[in-house]
Amino acid sequence: MESLLQVDKLNVVYDSPKGQVKAVKDVSFTIQKGEIFGLVGESGCGKSTTAFGISRLLRPPARITSGSVKLKGRELTTLTDSEFDGIRWSQLSIILQSAMNNLNPVIKIQDQLIDAILAHKKMTIKEAIKHSEFLLSLVDIQPDRLRSFPHELSGGMRQRVVIAMALALNPDLIIMDEPTTALDVVVQNGIIKKTLDLQKKFGFSILFITHDLPLMLEICDRVGVMYAGELVEVMRREDLLQNARHPYTQGLLRSFPSLQGEKTRLEGIPGHPPNLINPPKGCSFHPRCPHAMALCRVHEPSAIHDRKGIVACHLYGEEGEMSEPLSTAGEIN
Ligand code: SF4
Repeated sequence: MESLLQVDKLNVVYDSPKGQVKAVKDVSFTIQKGEIFGLVGESGCGKSTTAFGISRLLRPPARITSGSVKLKGRELTTLTDSEFDGIRWSQLSIILQSAMNNLNPVIKIQDQLIDAILAHKKMTIKEAIKHSEFLLSLVDIQPDRLRSFPHELSGGMRQRVVIAMALALNPDLIIMDEPTTALDVVVQNGIIKKTLDLQKKFGFSILFITHDLPLMLEICDRVGVMYAGELVEVMRREDLLQNARHPYTQGLLRSFPSLQGEKTRLEGIPGHPPNLINPPKGCSFHPRCPHAMALCRVHEPSAIHDRKGIVACHLYGEEGEMSEPLSTAGEIN
């Protein structure tokens, strides 16, 4: 597969009176053409900040301090605002958690869609209205809804309108940041199915962000797991489910009930994510890790890239193989 997005050692900080919050630390991953790549982790782990960094939506006090983001080989971090405007919608769209964050509540759906279309395409108003009707039909909404205000639609319909808007200029990549979190599970299911149908039909790539690991495992080709601003593991979905390597990923998987098989006690992950102004020395997960060794409290693990994916943990050697069995891996916290 061809590489569409390359994120390389991206660093984002929030400047605060108490110090610098390192929200994204040396995050590197790629998304292939037509791939659905997921970023998962607890609230505050840096997944949305990563998405905002890629899509140039960071506002002060957040800022990119270093790193590179390339879309179709073009560096995005150094583009001027007007250069980036040429890419927004046509190559990269973003769908945010609540549809009301994407839609202007006092402007009719039609005018918002037409605005986005005409900003990038040479069309008459009549053609843009026709195209808007087509976009709504893609998400199973009747064309007469074009004349509605966002508040006149249900939450599910609004999110469908936002998906239609994201597709307006047939982008290569759609970033979906918790797109269904505010919706009930039945509506969520409908939106996800519709998104997957459209992705198959048009072949765009998706960066899907959620804290909902089971949902992630249902729809993504590969999954990246973030903890305390770092990407600690990347694997193909089916491998992650069976053979997750990082202790944090293993803990996340044990935190969700299975709908099939025997009932088992949910273990969860003890403790809390660290304060990112003053994170622990060494591996930032060590205060919560059942396999922490003396080494983990001093040295930060480097990310190992191997044929299985990426893992950043001292339990794994250069080839990504476990250096010693988990049951005997040093002292337990
Ligand atoms: Fe646990 Fe050490 Fe691996 Fe961190 S580096 S996840 S503390 S074993």
